Amino acid sequence: MRSYEKSKQAYTEAVDLMPGGVNSPVRAFKSVNMDPIFMDSGKGAMITDIDGNEYIDYVLSWGPLILGHSEPKVVAAIQQQAMKATSFGAPSLSETELAKLVMERVPGIEMIRFVSSGTEATMSALRLARGVTGRDKILKFEGSYHGHGDSLLIKAGSGVATLGLPDSPGVPADIAKNTLTVAYNDLASAKLVFEKYGDDLAAVIVEPVAGNMGVVPPKPEFLTGLRALTEQYGTILIFDEVMTGFRVDYGCAQGYYGVTPDLTTLGKVIGGGLPVGAFAGKREIMEQIAPAGPIYQAGTLSGNPLAMTAGYTTLAQLTPASYEYFQKLGDQLEEGFRAAATKYNIPHTVNRAGSMIGFFFTNEEVVDFESAKTSDLALFAEYFKLMAEEGIFLPPSQFEGLFISTAHTEEHIAKTVAAFHTVFEKLAR
Ligand code: PMP
Repeated sequence: MRSYEKSKQAYTEAVDLMPGGVNSPVRAFKSVNMDPIFMDSGKGAMITDIDGNEYIDYVLSWGPLILGHSEPKVVAAIQQQAMKATSFGAPSLSETELAKLVMERVPGIEMIRFVSSGTEATMSALRLARGVTGRDKILKFEGSYHGHGDSLLIKAGSGVATLGLPDSPGVPADIAKNTLTVAYNDLASAKLVFEKYGDDLAAVIVEPVAGNMGVVPPKPEFLTGLRALTEQYGTILIFDEVMTGFRVDYGCAQGYYGVTPDLTTLGKVIGGGLPVGAFAGKREIMEQIAPAGPIYQAGTLSGNPLAMTAGYTTLAQLTPASYEYFQKLGDQLEEGFRAAATKYNIPHTVNRAGSMIGFFFTNEEVVDFESAKTSDLALFAEYFKLMAEEGIFLPPSQFEGLFISTAHTEEHIAKTVAAFHTVFEKLAR
């Protein structure tokens, strides 16, 4: 058995200092009935906790570390930038460079504004959509997570779903009433909402692949249907690509699915592990943001040179071949999981979009939050603990996806598949 003694002590101390001992809820490992593991270092696909236990990491800081931990070129770029300056609060060339690189790859992006988190990106995109349309209502999908802005914490996924807190206290009713929700992939219900409220709808915000109720890809007609509806009613279509951006494909999910939104939100990968977000899209909409236009948004550390440099050096190393590599490793991981689960009679469904992978412990097809919730959460908790014991670090929640980095190798995947067999044999007893 691995010892987690130092993590236990660290948690006892932290819980007195920070709510739940953490600075973001899912890190507390509540839904897997375990004390959190405190991490110490990472290299490539591997991380080491403060007790010295090593793991193959499939969390990757919840997605950003697409090149793995401490990637040498990213580290060198951060070091060089840190020697020059860490922040100015004045424009610097690193912002222009990252902006150009993002625009070269993403079809729907003509202008971009950098912020410091995904939450800021989505909050700002909503304000922009509301400001431009003069409308207040928005449509989002149940079990999707778009950060913790007031308008977006309604029937949300991720930690909100993990902790069973679908509508957080503290969101004013006057704000919540403007957020309409329907099931993910349910185009027919979205149509009904448009028939009733279409002229009042400022925006539809959607994860083009849902990644915060586990992984749920869009049905073929879902994104194109939303595009058609939003065009018909003059509503702004926002693809929240904070998770899918440069993760699902070289040109993000919008490139992969061939549907171009009006606005895109980004985060995670574009910061290479440092705090970054962005909202971006059509020029005529983006030019409504201050100081080009009247809609206000600002940030002391927005476009921070360290973060811009880490993001640039990360994106610059991704090529179409990287995504073929992810596809190959993803296939191996998925096949290995299926074979092990089948052998030991474990109910399972696998959803995948490139290197975003969702393993569910249910035999039902998972197409939305309701079907995601048919997964056996008690089984998931046991699986999580036993996989950690085998040296595999997974997201500590059924309602989160796994990620692969370019630093993962076929050997890492083979080790993980061997762990599936060991763990499922135990779970089957
Ligand atoms: N949107 C999506 C799709 C996300 O997955 C997340 C975070 N997981 C966010 C927004 C919020 O980003 P952040 O945690 O950086 O605020």
